[in-house]
Amino acid sequence: MLKQSELENSADLCRELPQLGRWLETAEARELLARFPRGPVVEAARCVLDRLRNEVKSGAYMRESLAAAIERLPKLVEAEIEKSGRPTLRRVINATGVLLQTNLGRAPLSKAAIRNIQEVASGYCNLEFDLASGERGRRDVHAEELILRLIGRQDRAATVVNNCAAATFLALNTLAESGEVIVSRGELVEIGGGFRIPEILRKSGATLREVGTTNRTRVADYASAITAETRLILRVHHSNFRMEGFTERPELDELIALGAEAGVPVFEDQGTGCVAQIANFGLEADSNWVRSATSDAALVSASGDKLLGGPQCGILTGDPNLIARVRANPLARAFRVDKLTYAALQATLHAYLAGEEETIPVVAMLRADAESIRQRCDKLAASLCGAGFAADTVATSSVIGGGTAPGATLTSFAVAVNHPEMSEAELTTRLRDCDPPIIARTHQGRVLLDLRTVAPEDDTAVARAVSLPRRPE
Ligand SMILES: *Cc1c(COP(=O)(O)O)cnc(C)c1O
Repeated sequence: MLKQSELENSADLCRELPQLGRWLETAEARELLARFPRGPVVEAARCVLDRLRNEVKSGAYMRESLAAAIERLPKLVEAEIEKSGRPTLRRVINATGVLLQTNLGRAPLSKAAIRNIQEVASGYCNLEFDLASGERGRRDVHAEELILRLIGRQDRAATVVNNCAAATFLALNTLAESGEVIVSRGELVEIGGGFRIPEILRKSGATLREVGTTNRTRVADYASAITAETRLILRVHHSNFRMEGFTERPELDELIALGAEAGVPVFEDQGTGCVAQIANFGLEADSNWVRSATSDAALVSASGDKLLGGPQCGILTGDPNLIARVRANPLARAFRVDKLTYAALQATLHAYLAGEEETIPVVAMLRADAESIRQRCDKLAASLCGAGFAADTVATSSVIGGGTAPGATLTSFAVAVNHPEMSEAELTTRLRDCDPPIIARTHQGRVLLDLRTVAPEDDTAVARAVSLPRRPE
């Protein structure tokens, strides 16, 4: 609380601030008005004056420091105009060491995917037009063949929707509306962002038949729950948690065998989109999309922007008759993806088929060897030390994130930074204020910059941005 005398003082000081209308008539304001349209100048000036008034009221100024701030008004207003014209969605540098984060946009795209987007988006394209026949075409052709080649099964079909949640919902709604779906109690998970299997099931119009227990479910549990009402057996990848200890869960193939015997299709919500052999990074043995999609499961869903390293989308593969039914569902139209997604997905799938998956940033980051990361950290630390920071290389663990490989970590290195005149909170704020903003994590009073998730070509930008003096407020 401010004391009475200070309140009077701040009321006095507030009177020192120019009124908006008056200020707009000054020579300085007219100079800005000559360079920018009137609307943004007025809006920015109002915003800056309001901010100053609030700061004065909270006691942030003495008479001299306020006079200095008023002196800087044109600069502050200009900075505000520039800020308001900047897009709010911006590229950031991810120095957290978490490869896939929904908050940071998940997978960065490959250069080939970006080129393809640019090419396709800069004019018209044959999204639903068959160039050979000159007739109307289907947008799925732009991904289906590549997906089938990748999973090595030409006898299957594939379709692409907005994300894996949509693919899963669509599969449930198409195949199990008004019927029962059998799910293990150990798989009634929440994936994140409010995507909970029991709720999605209910919304799809299906009835949930829980079987087994939280930690153990056997094939026999599924078998004894099958009735005339059963439409589907659902298996869900654990995504973001790991079960350890006294646990049991049937393999996908065991469920497929049971389903074949009982005439019930099996659908796996696989999620990860993992293609490459990355079991040696500590990924659970069953968390491989291609393995599931290659199996005889009726349908398998996966995300495009997790370990696949492509654009946000959901990929549904499986029995051609069932995929045809999914395509015919009126909701499929509501979940379809646009040309930009196909453009990026094609390039991403191509990279795998051409044996060039190293060009996909997520794959490159997964495979980056710890020693080369350490060398990059040493260089960055040296340059930050030169700029007045205390910085050294420390060993860390990067995690994959995105609900793909819970518990899996990658040996990595980070630069631990602090500054004698800044708290760790001030330093992370300052990093977020860089252009592009740098997102880091903190640990034991220091800020950690994990370079596994930073593209090597961004290293110098990080060094420069961190050491730069703060931009004027
Ligand atoms: C991530 C994930 C989802 C959701 O995927 P989105 O592409 O974000 O919709 C669904 N199921 C599983 C098993 C997942 O891992």
